[in-house]
Amino acid sequence: ISMEKTVNIAVVPGVGYSHLVPILQFSKLLVHLHPYIHVTCLIPTLGSPQSSSKTFLQTLPSNIKYTFLQPIHPQDLLPQGTTLEAQHQLTITHSLPFIHQALKSLTLRTPLVALVVDCFAVEALDFAKEFNILSYMYYPAAATSLSLSFYLPKLDEETSCEYRDLPEPIKIPGCIPFHGRDIYAPAQDRSIQAYKLILQLVKRFRIGDGVIVNSFLEIEKGPIEALAEEGSDNPPVYPVGPIIQTVTSSGDDANGLECLTWLDKQQPCSVLYVSFGSGGTLSQEQIVELAFGLESSNHKFLWVVRAPSSSSSSAAYFSTSAQNDVDLSQFLPPGFMERTKEQGMVIPSWAPQIQILSHKSIGGFLSHCGWNSILESVMHGVPLITWPLFAEQRMNAVLLSEGLKVGIRPRVNENGIVERLEVAELIKCLMEGEEGGKMCNRMKKLKENAINALKENGSSTKTLSQLALKWRNLMQEI
Ligand code: UDP
Repeated sequence: ISMEKTVNIAVVPGVGYSHLVPILQFSKLLVHLHPYIHVTCLIPTLGSPQSSSKTFLQTLPSNIKYTFLQPIHPQDLLPQGTTLEAQHQLTITHSLPFIHQALKSLTLRTPLVALVVDCFAVEALDFAKEFNILSYMYYPAAATSLSLSFYLPKLDEETSCEYRDLPEPIKIPGCIPFHGRDIYAPAQDRSIQAYKLILQLVKRFRIGDGVIVNSFLEIEKGPIEALAEEGSDNPPVYPVGPIIQTVTSSGDDANGLECLTWLDKQQPCSVLYVSFGSGGTLSQEQIVELAFGLESSNHKFLWVVRAPSSSSSSAAYFSTSAQNDVDLSQFLPPGFMERTKEQGMVIPSWAPQIQILSHKSIGGFLSHCGWNSILESVMHGVPLITWPLFAEQRMNAVLLSEGLKVGIRPRVNENGIVERLEVAELIKCLMEGEEGGKMCNRMKKLKENAINALKENGSSTKTLSQLALKWRNLMQEI
């Protein structure tokens, strides 16, 4: 047996739990398939580390090590960063000296081959040259939104109005045409700071040696091939997905267990799962419409409900307080719980999504179209009602409903509300209609493709091996 050399790489996540988990899920797959690779994760921190992050870090295998970088204090960011998103971005900027320091001490100990950074930490890519290592961006979302990011500087130059006012759909290479109002949220208002930030950020997407994306060829053939096209001037793109969690952490609490027991008692494919991700929030008015829609559809449902917010569709995403003590009667229609006690189950705030989606009783998923939720739905063959709220979710919804035709998208009225009749109709269409059956079949096919992509000879596994091999060969030369 030849002694295999260890190949060391460093990864830098974005700030917060939801930017930590994806790049570490990727790292886990990487070291599982290629055990000679060792990962050191350098974690930029705002304030003190979240307890959810610490819990997750305890599940890592021994060849993934991590350090929390010196924390940035919120009060140091306040004058400039008003929104939490901006604070997260500034935390990266302020952490750069610590990332530099950490990389330096790592390289002194052992040769480093590559640096992989989350798409919100691309500023750190600059250090790769200095340490003479390869550098990559990890993109935890769709190749479609990645394509928009590569295309944005050009679009910005060519367009004088707001994108939502463009009369024609936007044609991003390889993607289905998008109406301006459907492209990702930070590009919806070109006058604000968030847009300028995104524009700066996406220009840096090109500076590394490649982009690793949590997608797979068969779900986004158009954009993935277009990104790789010769003469497109893009760095190499490596689709390695779908990478999803296998169980939902904290899925073993009382609420979680109760809903799984309830699902056990339902007919196969009879229940609609309703969830808006880890942070999606509806207005009071919208909650009421959704409730009446669910009720009058006469279909079974499992609804993860969160307290309403009038100001932001991602309110809960940035809230630090747990919502387990919400009083549902405060915002669900009077009598709703009583009338639907046979028809449905309502759980506050958080559900074991993976266990739910893999349950045989689930027949559909009404989702906010977060990319992780989509990949999880695909991996379990569950067709969708695509109800986007924020970030790049509208693009994902278009991909699913117009592109892949594995989901249907609600119509919103002039006040931005999906009315109860529309909700009920869509549920019936998905759960009992002919079109619903077709969507279901297409989703089953997509599931097969997803599973195949991850098999030993699958497209994503091969792509990942290609990367690992490149790094190993480089190590042999050192
Ligand atoms: N999730 C969950 N239970 C919930 C809500 C969300 O387990 O009640 C998990 C879900 O399985 C997914 C992630 O949280 O892995 C949500 O990620 P996604 O990209 O779909 O949306 P985001 O929360 O980032 O908006």
